[in-house]
Amino acid sequence: MRQPCVFFDRDGIVNMPPPEGRRYIERPEEFVVLPEFLAALRVVQARGYAAVIVTNQKGVATGDIAPEALAAMHRRLQDAVRRAGLRALADIRVSTAADDAHPDRKPNPGLLLAAARDHGFDVRRSWMIGDHERDIEAGRRAGCRTVRVGGTQPTAADFRVPDMGQLAAWLEKHLDSAVDNTTKHAKGAKNIDDQFAGN
Ligand SMILES: [Mg+2]
Repeated sequence: MRQPCVFFDRDGIVNMPPPEGRRYIERPEEFVVLPEFLAALRVVQARGYAAVIVTNQKGVATGDIAPEALAAMHRRLQDAVRRAGLRALADIRVSTAADDAHPDRKPNPGLLLAAARDHGFDVRRSWMIGDHERDIEAGRRAGCRTVRVGGTQPTAADFRVPDMGQLAAWLEKHLDSAVDNTTKHAKGAKNIDDQFAGN
């Protein structure tokens, strides 16, 4: 059975968002991993899900973010994950496109679909977690269940969590075990075998 994945948006979910008046995190030292994300990742990994970051970073196209700086930020992220005693993120997928019509730029689902294809994820059992409606739309269009973090306006998400501080506890309560599903599936298959055996 294919593994499901939890896709996380980056800025505001994984790391502190850009400060007021700034569009992008431009320097590696500005990239501050949220402990609340690490707590959520711990639940996700314990339940048997892969974890992948999917992020729009148009600032690369506009020249505001150097590709080397972006790479350094993501090394910092993987280091923080390892220091927390967690497995490395399965992937960090970045759309650098400036064109809103680009298939990889959220709300388009290209980043999620490509990661699912490359890693063999089961999108129907996967989740997208983000703090913006474009994350939710990308997740829905990829066929995932969705969680919106924060915000007060109506959301298209399946669920809403008020803030990152409550995400880990929410996942503890609602994220079904990827492994348990496999067990159920195996039990179901066995029951069918038993029926045949009885006939
Ligand atoms: Mg965000």
